[in-house]
Amino acid sequence: MLNIVLFGPPGAGKGTQSEKLIQKYGIEHISTGDLFRKHLGEGTELGKLAKKYMDEGNLVPDKVVIGMVDDRINSSKDPKGFIFDGFPRTVAQAKALDELLNAKGIGISGMISLEVPEDELRKRIKERGKTSGRTDDQDDKKVDNRIKVYKEETMPVAKYYEEQGKLSKIHGVGSIDEIFASICKVVDQY
Ligand code: AMP
Repeated sequence: MLNIVLFGPPGAGKGTQSEKLIQKYGIEHISTGDLFRKHLGEGTELGKLAKKYMDEGNLVPDKVVIGMVDDRINSSKDPKGFIFDGFPRTVAQAKALDELLNAKGIGISGMISLEVPEDELRKRIKERGKTSGRTDDQDDKKVDNRIKVYKEETMPVAKYYEEQGKLSKIHGVGSIDEIFASICKVVDQY
C-alpha cells in the first residue's frame, strides 16, 4: 500500500498536489480540513465543535481529529493507499496514525514536505481567499495565527518522520506540473 503524508504550511499547495496524486496513483485523499468543512456544511455536532477552533485558525483537539481519520480509513473498501493532507498536524496525531495503521499491518511509506517561503504562502492564501469562501483565508490575523500554529505545533511532525528516515523535502515554488514531477520522483522510489 502507498501511504503518503503530504506536509507543509497553509498555502503550500497540498490540496492541489493531492488531487493530482490520487489521479496518478489511484489512492484515496484524506484531507482533515476538507472533512471538517464537510461536517460544518452539514451542521453535524462534530462540525459545530470544530468551527470554534477553525474560526480562530487553531487546531481541533487531537482526539477529535484522530477519531474522524480512523472512521474515514475504516469506511474505505479495499484501498490501494491514502494520501494524508493536513494530517498529522501534531506529534501526538503522528503517533496515533502509526498505531492505527500498524494495527492493520500497514504503515506510512513516506512524508513529502512542500517547502515554500512565508511571503509566497501569504500571497497564495490571499488569492485563494477570493474564491474559496474560507473565512480563515480572508483575515490576516487568522492567517498569522495559522502560520504561528504551524511553526509551533506542526513543524515538529517533520522531525518525527525524519528520525524514521521517511522525510523528503520538495521545493514547492514553480509551476504545478514541475512540483508534481518532483513529488512523483520521490513517490516512485517508495
Ligand atoms: P486546512 O484546510 O488543512 O488548512 O485546515 C483548516 C482548519 O481545520 C485548520 O486551521 C484547523 O483548525 C482544522 N484542522 C484541519 N486539520 C487538522 C488537524 N490535523 N488537526 C487539528 N486541526 C485541524
